[in-house]
Amino acid sequence: MRWYGSMALAAAVLVLGALVTLGVSSVITGKERRSAQLAIQRQSDLAAAAVAGEVRRYVDTIDNVAAALGSHDTLSPQAFERATSRIPALAGATALVFVVPADGPGVTAAQAAWRAAGAAGLTFKPAEGIQEHYFGVYARQLDGDAPLDGGSDLGDNPDLADVMRQARLSGHAAVSNAALIAGGQRRTLSLATPVTGADGALRGWVVLGLRGEGFFDGALGEVLHRRVTATLAATQTGGGLLPIATVHRLAVPGDALRRSKDIGIAQRVWHLEVTADPRDLPGAYTDRPLVATAAGAALTVLVTLLVYLLSTRRSKAMTLVHEATRELRAAEREARDQAALQQAILTSLGEGVTVVGADGRVLLHNPAARQLLGTAGDPDTLEDWPAHYGAYLPDRATPFPAAELPMVKALRGVSVDRVEMVIRNPTHPDGILVSVSARPLDRSGGGPRGAVAVLHDITALRRYETELAQFAAVVAHDLKSPLTAVHGFAAVAADALSADAAQVAPRRPDTAKVAVERVRQGAIRMRSIIDDLLAYTTARDAPLNLTDVDLRAVVESVVADRTALAPPMQLAKASTVALPPTPRIHIGDLPHIKADPGLLRLVVDNLIGNAIKYTPAGQTPNIEVTALSDPDCVILVVADRGIGIPDGHKARVFESFYRARPADYGGTGLGLAICRRIVERHGGSIAVEDNPGGGTRFCVSLPTASRTTEPDPIAALRTYGPSADAGWERLMRPSDVNAS
Ligand code: ADP
Repeated sequence: MRWYGSMALAAAVLVLGALVTLGVSSVITGKERRSAQLAIQRQSDLAAAAVAGEVRRYVDTIDNVAAALGSHDTLSPQAFERATSRIPALAGATALVFVVPADGPGVTAAQAAWRAAGAAGLTFKPAEGIQEHYFGVYARQLDGDAPLDGGSDLGDNPDLADVMRQARLSGHAAVSNAALIAGGQRRTLSLATPVTGADGALRGWVVLGLRGEGFFDGALGEVLHRRVTATLAATQTGGGLLPIATVHRLAVPGDALRRSKDIGIAQRVWHLEVTADPRDLPGAYTDRPLVATAAGAALTVLVTLLVYLLSTRRSKAMTLVHEATRELRAAEREARDQAALQQAILTSLGEGVTVVGADGRVLLHNPAARQLLGTAGDPDTLEDWPAHYGAYLPDRATPFPAAELPMVKALRGVSVDRVEMVIRNPTHPDGILVSVSARPLDRSGGGPRGAVAVLHDITALRRYETELAQFAAVVAHDLKSPLTAVHGFAAVAADALSADAAQVAPRRPDTAKVAVERVRQGAIRMRSIIDDLLAYTTARDAPLNLTDVDLRAVVESVVADRTALAPPMQLAKASTVALPPTPRIHIGDLPHIKADPGLLRLVVDNLIGNAIKYTPAGQTPNIEVTALSDPDCVILVVADRGIGIPDGHKARVFESFYRARPADYGGTGLGLAICRRIVERHGGSIAVEDNPGGGTRFCVSLPTASRTTEPDPIAALRTYGPSADAGWERLMRPSDVNAS
């Protein structure tokens, strides 16, 4: 991964981290918002329930008092005292008053009756201008203020008159409207419940005066969360709501949470409003979103850095791995190329290469070694090599001693050079002569890990060497006799031509003439030998120049030369100069062929020359030169009526220097060897047979299409001599050269 890949990955992680952080933060915020809403709702419900519950408790209290008061036929001050002595603490309550109704004329009677019941000194003080009068008879002060004045007319207060009217009508407790008193400083309200006698008749009311703040504080002071503000509003005379108390008055921020709730109180509906700063509510508006955002951002940055570092490291590591892999691949490719090259070298080597391991098992034969050894499969041990491959000493009879095998010596750490051995087996039935050199492999580690041997086929080389030796011997021998003759006859001529002191003419001119003729014949003989040697070399080594050749023209040219050539070589043996009869040569139809014209002429010249030469002395050579055509080849036939070749010699007349009748006719024994070499280089063959009716017939078969047997330059290095002769093994034994 490159650097921009790492950057992209890091950026992706950063964006993802930021999104997750924002998501988590918004989830927490949402949760807190919901939690705040729930909290304010809970506070609101709690406050409403507390107010309603507290009012109920107050109502129950005055109902109990009313019931207790109603149970007395005559309500004495003591009875009132007893009935109200055990009322529970009622926060905000100012006084509990027993109120009775009285109308115009009945006021005095009522006053008298209550005085009679025990309220001594009770004086009803009817307010003016009102129809209904409500007089307080007994009162219990609850807030420690001065006791109420008995006999006051509460009908003077419209709110009180109204609540009592409501209570009388409903038969149950009622609550008054709220009112401001003390110059607007206080909010008051009252609860009133009817007092009925045993007969069900209304006897009065129990009225409980309340101060708004006190009541509300008492109801909510302990219940409401101290950071929540609650305001209670009650109905007021004239319509609308009058706030009667506020608990926990706090500064209210713009985003404050609010809840309003209506509370049914007796026949009226109060209104409760709850407000709170969301930050003050438990579980709401905490620092958690901020903390989560900060932590998420920090974590995101950290993870991003880590991812970037890791990915760049990974990218560097990957780059290193890629480079190492590339180098390894290159090294492997180079090693493979090297191996292939070595394999190719081994395969194309003309020399055989064989490698064995330390245990003597064959590890490798290149194709040349396999071809030289000639057998498929390899023996398990080196001891079996001589028998398996057919290895013999150069005497061709004694099996090669296993202990002397070059490979065995090399495994012992000894280098061996040019050991000759004969390999003879079904692949090489005539045997080949092989030169073997062997070396130990890797001697540094204490002992050879194996050995390598190089096998070189020296069969042809040895044949060539032998041939050269024979060649030298023949040249020396054959050149010596004409040279001796030239030397001797030259002396005779000189002697015959020398004049004595008294005479001016030569003494013996005839003798000198014969001697000079002999000198000339000796020179001809030597030239013949040298020509043959040159022709032999040309036939072997001259490059082929294949062109279209008119065979008839070649034959006619040779015949013309041969018949003009006088005296023939037999003159060397003749004691007198006598011209031989002119040969009769019949030339048949001869085609054009593809051949080297110079070399082809050599073949024709040798065959016609032999046909003339090997005719008995004095007999006219009778020769036919014809041709047989075939789609694939042309067969040139040279037939004579000469002395013929005995059957025992026919197989060998094509060998170099072989002569069937060396004593009777001059020659080098190279002519037919030259012919065979040239014909074979053209891809053809040559054979000899008896000419029916007497004489000899040579058949030269040449392919019509060019099919030369020219060797490739490398193979030519190994093929030093002419093609294999049937009796080549004789040539491998230099001692036999002279015998042949
Ligand atoms: P050369 O003629 O110099 O001896 P060649 O190689 O031409 O050598 O011939 C080899 C031998 O073959 C000759 O010595 C001869 O005995 C025999 N020979 C060749 N041609 C004929 C022939 N036409 N008739 C009889 N013998 C022949």
